[in-house]
Amino acid sequence: MSRNAITVWKAASEGVHGPPCLECLSEHQWAVWICGGAKCQVCGAKGVLKMDFSIRHRVCTPCKKSNLFAASKFAKLYPNYVPVLMKLVPYTNVGGRAHGHTSGTKFF
Ligand SMILES: [Zn+2]
Repeated sequence: MSRNAITVWKAASEGVHGPPCLECLSEHQWAVWICGGAKCQVCGAKGVLKMDFSIRHRVCTPCKKSNLFAASKFAKLYPNYVPVLMKLVPYTNVGGRAHGHTSGTKFF
């Protein structure tokens, strides 16, 4: 992205009076997330109104069911994983079967 494009995305973001860009995202990613419509960022399904700030994506329930898994399953799926590294991996507390409600479970 050119420097001029960053200026355009910042102006667009300010134009909608939205929240400031998260430090972990580019201006372009932020603009798409805020202004890109209520579509799942994985499959494109319409009607996904909630943005999941924890995983920095707008994801429909079927995609959460097929792409996220509970922390308790991590060791089975990746037996050689290093547990301390999981502190660095973004997770959400809203799983695919939670109907939009948070839980005490971490979903990666
Ligand atoms: Zn989806």
